[in-house]
Amino acid sequence: MKKTQTNLIIKTKKGLYCPQGDFYLDPVSRSKVETALISHGHADHLRAGHKHYICTEKSLPILNKRIDSPNKQPHNIKTFGYGEVFHLGEVKISFHPAGHILGSAQIRMEYNDEVWVYTGDFKRGADPTCEPFEVIPCDVLISEATFSLPVFRWPDFESEVESIYHWWQENKKENKPSVLGAYSLGKAQRIMKALRQFTQEEILVHGAVDEICQAYKKVGVDVGPYQRITKETKDFAGQLIISPPSAIRSSWSKKFKNKTTAFASGWMRVRGNRRRRGVERGFIISDHADWDSLVRTFRETGAKKIFLFHENTQAMQKHLTEQGFNISSTKELV
Ligand SMILES: [Zn+2]
Repeated sequence: MKKTQTNLIIKTKKGLYCPQGDFYLDPVSRSKVETALISHGHADHLRAGHKHYICTEKSLPILNKRIDSPNKQPHNIKTFGYGEVFHLGEVKISFHPAGHILGSAQIRMEYNDEVWVYTGDFKRGADPTCEPFEVIPCDVLISEATFSLPVFRWPDFESEVESIYHWWQENKKENKPSVLGAYSLGKAQRIMKALRQFTQEEILVHGAVDEICQAYKKVGVDVGPYQRITKETKDFAGQLIISPPSAIRSSWSKKFKNKTTAFASGWMRVRGNRRRRGVERGFIISDHADWDSLVRTFRETGAKKIFLFHENTQAMQKHLTEQGFNISSTKELV
């Protein structure tokens, strides 16, 4: 490994920046940037208004939905397939599957014989809607660490989905609507598609979920029979209804008489969160790496230096430093 003069990625007010290639990684500050490399379409990684966007081919319909508006000039978005190499300045770049949601990418950057990888958000668990995470050997890893405490360990995804199916069927016996909170981009489609191994019954969805299901369909991911809930939809008894988490306690949910509610999230791993969310049941399903997957990934990449881009990761940094990892926060990327 040849030592570079400066870091390939530095933390600036506008976000993580590569001076050698003049681009930003997932810039979400209010300032407009010239070139934004986008790992995936979640709002904490994607913001409208930049000049040029570069993302994976499969992310394109999601970016179109999320940052383009009908009456405005569409954003300038360039796409590449996984593994396809392109250059910005003297930096050799490629996208690789992150297993987080459809089209999600890790970004591999090579400069001066040194390889840096930015994970974006990622998971190692099963997901029938996207390509599995790829381990990329690297010198420096910039990683997410949303769930950076040992308590966050996920049960098997398939068995949690089976539990959702049984929960729905039990509620159906009493004619109750089963309202399941799941993030409209990624989580909802992952659960809907996985439920198809148990049933082809129609699922009812909130409009925000339908919008993303349509984007998924454009790149060949079909979640099976479902119907968008409109003013005309009247019969909710015994139905499974997929809702964005925020809509469960909103006026939108009032029409589901005699409903029972649940939330699918990694946060359901912690007792008390279910009650705080005001739902009756929690399913532990996350699109992020759990503690074990984070540590395993750090090892498998062989990275000599690891930077975590989420806040509040001191416990993880301390624990892993004791185990011999060279790990710190992206705040130190100066
Ligand atoms: Zn995400």
